[in-house]
Amino acid sequence: MTRSERLFERAVKRIPGGVNSPVRAYGAIGETPRFIEKADGCYIYDVDGNRYIDYIDSWGPMILGHNFPAVRESVQKACENGLSFGCATELEVEMAEFICERIPHVEMVRMVNSGTEAVMSAIRAARGYTGREKIVKFAGCYHGHTDAMLVSAGSGVMTSGVPDSAGVPEGCTRDTMTAVYNDLDSVKALFESAPGQVAAVIVEPVAANMGVVLPKDGFLKGLRTLCDENGALLIFDEVITGFRLAFGGAAQYFQVVPDMVTYGKIIGAGMPVGAYGGRRDIMEMVAPAGKVYQAGTLSGNPIAMTAGLTQLKYLWENPQVYEELEKKGEKLYGGMEKIAEDSGRALTLNHIASLGSLFFTEGPVVDYASAKTSDTAAFAEYFKAMLRMGIHLAPSQFEAMFLSDAHGEEAIEETLDCVRRYFG
Ligand SMILES: *Cc1c(COP(=O)(O)O)cnc(C)c1O
Repeated sequence: MTRSERLFERAVKRIPGGVNSPVRAYGAIGETPRFIEKADGCYIYDVDGNRYIDYIDSWGPMILGHNFPAVRESVQKACENGLSFGCATELEVEMAEFICERIPHVEMVRMVNSGTEAVMSAIRAARGYTGREKIVKFAGCYHGHTDAMLVSAGSGVMTSGVPDSAGVPEGCTRDTMTAVYNDLDSVKALFESAPGQVAAVIVEPVAANMGVVLPKDGFLKGLRTLCDENGALLIFDEVITGFRLAFGGAAQYFQVVPDMVTYGKIIGAGMPVGAYGGRRDIMEMVAPAGKVYQAGTLSGNPIAMTAGLTQLKYLWENPQVYEELEKKGEKLYGGMEKIAEDSGRALTLNHIASLGSLFFTEGPVVDYASAKTSDTAAFAEYFKAMLRMGIHLAPSQFEAMFLSDAHGEEAIEETLDCVRRYFG
């Protein structure tokens, strides 16, 4: 028995499912999760001494690679002053200024502790600002586990959501409407079904929680127009894409201006941080400036702000990271695409910059319904083989691969070799 197996035996007795977040379990794969001891650069090491090239990157935060020296050192130094004060600090002002001065559509920002909290709060602010209650989301987009967003992700249009989880009252999802990703007509139909009632449309500007699904040309701009025509706010959930596709996220990448954005993952550099922000007139609705209540004992925590700000500063001062990530993405995902094509199997590779997904289906994958046509059993076989060869992928067909600045030529070549060996 490996140490991971023994740890998992202990874990399941005291932690539901043995993990503190479902996606860490290897349930869909039929294996024991690998327990991790440490990580450095693009490598991650389990408690049995195995080394893997890591494409999870903590689900996105580690865009500079694991254990990035400047981030680690800044945290060590910050710890000397105490871990938390629950009071205002200069760092929070610096963080807010750093973001707002560089991302034009973020005029004000509020720090929270996770992406879930960021989305929950942004939705509350949007409802408070518009005085409306309905929210449009897209099937297959994940916005954290706040009640209103845990809506059964059917593939069709739904004017009233059905809870996707036990424990979510129907009242909490009644005002969540579900549209089809990349289908503007489905959004239009929802607006027409509830005139003057939609507070906001929330979207992952690049969907990365049903595997990676790119917005079609004109989709994001079309959402902007539909929101304007209907007096609704457009919220970009940039928890994955923020500071990843570009410093200004997908909004900058695609040149579409949302009213509000949510951040997470990269903004904390591995510490639990989320944020929501946007237009000043909307953000001034938030307490204590305004009447939308939202709070947090540890929000803006000095250690978390130090880690996040150090990473954001590095990204801002080294914009070549984004060019490099584009090139690496082209090399890795382009290479995988070629191998997939040559194999003659039913495979589809969706990718943009550092994000990519290999779907086990003929494709094209453009929305949740087409993503769901993937052969998840075939994915599980592939996942297991890659793990044995030292490649650490997310244990689910519907999660993205994350490239970091630390993935060098050698690691990418080694990965491609493994993919080639598997399909060859
Ligand atoms: C991860 C994620 C969230 C939730 O963030 P947590 O920090 O896990 O709560 C929300 N939206 C998107 C797009 C995400 O990928």
